[in-house]
Amino acid sequence: MSETMRQYIDEAESVLLHTYNRYPIVLKRGEGVYLYDLDDKKYLDFVSGIGVFALGYHNREYNDALKAQIDAITHTSNYYYNVPAIEAAKKLTRVSGMDRVFFTNSGAESVEGAIKAARKYAFLKDGNTDHEIIAMHHSFHGRTMGALSVTGNPKYREAFEPGIGQIRFAQLNDFDSVLSCVTDKTCAILLETVQGEGGLYPAEEDFLRKIRALCDERDLLMILDEVQCGMGRTGTLFAWQRYGIKPDLMTLAKGIGCGVPVGAFLMTERVAEKSLAAGDHGTTYGGNPLACAAVAKVLELFERDNIVGHVREISGYLEEKLDALVSEFDFIRLRRGVGLMQGLVFDRPVAPVIEEALKRGLILINAGPDILRFLPPLIIQKEHVDEMMGILRESIAAGKGAL
Ligand SMILES: *Cc1c(COP(=O)(O)O)cnc(C)c1O
Repeated sequence: MSETMRQYIDEAESVLLHTYNRYPIVLKRGEGVYLYDLDDKKYLDFVSGIGVFALGYHNREYNDALKAQIDAITHTSNYYYNVPAIEAAKKLTRVSGMDRVFFTNSGAESVEGAIKAARKYAFLKDGNTDHEIIAMHHSFHGRTMGALSVTGNPKYREAFEPGIGQIRFAQLNDFDSVLSCVTDKTCAILLETVQGEGGLYPAEEDFLRKIRALCDERDLLMILDEVQCGMGRTGTLFAWQRYGIKPDLMTLAKGIGCGVPVGAFLMTERVAEKSLAAGDHGTTYGGNPLACAAVAKVLELFERDNIVGHVREISGYLEEKLDALVSEFDFIRLRRGVGLMQGLVFDRPVAPVIEEALKRGLILINAGPDILRFLPPLIIQKEHVDEMMGILRESIAAGKGAL
């Protein structure tokens, strides 16, 4: 490592709040599916900024659209209309079949908004303020107080209790456990269509259909968090689209901006009519023309280049290669995931493999201590999968002592 990079890392550790154990590289630029650090060392990226850079780095058309928007205007406040927000919302509603969009600046904020919409919907029905939300164990919805309160991982919540309250946790894919959480105060059921941080657990079709039916029967709101699994990652634009159901509310972020901080929550007209009204919710930056120009461009490129079709094709190849590893190494228990959101479940911690991979120019991440997670840019080709597999094999061999 160069002296310059070493120095930056030391400085970072003296001025940035230490809320992350960071890997010892300073990233400078990206090109396609590759990243470069300050020393110009090249890395194949199978994390894409945690499911963000769907279109890869340095996409010319995306960059040009943002540059043009910077020269026009980047912020207006929500008291006025701006064209990129209108264009982005038109595209998002068309591709999702949802009716109304509220733009946010992150995934956690999208979840906050969905929780507020659900509470207001229930409040308008009976005037009560003690409504409950059912969320899932092992879920992850973000780090702000509301999003944290519905995150089913006590480790993240413990020091920050009390949360917003009135939250009950059920077991993913166990409909009886959901039923046992339902009371006459329940107003919404919230889940990730595919759990990301919690370990790449897809919600099963039958489970989703039963939740949909339960919500219809009792007028509860079904909220699907698609912050990580949305935007094409699983081989449909939104993961729920493969199951023939539709949520009442959906949260987005990560991939929809491809590098610009932006999120959104979407709802059907039925919910919009009877929930958040003027004055109920707001944000200074949310829906700004710069972020929305990014969303509009991303959706345009997704459609033109059939990114979702490409994910369906290439993910079969990735699955095949990962499955081969599962048969090869007895300490790799199984592969789990959908599309380009995959995990290899080890019977031991994966940290040594990630460290060895980084040394060899491959960026990987975990999901919990013993799951190796793969969230590559959606534009990867077979040759990138092959390159990744080569480095991964070497990294497993090198990390074996520590494994
Ligand atoms: C990352 C994530 C969030 C939080 O998004 P931030 O932009 O980090 O606030 C929420 N839900 C899911 C499913 C996520 O993966």
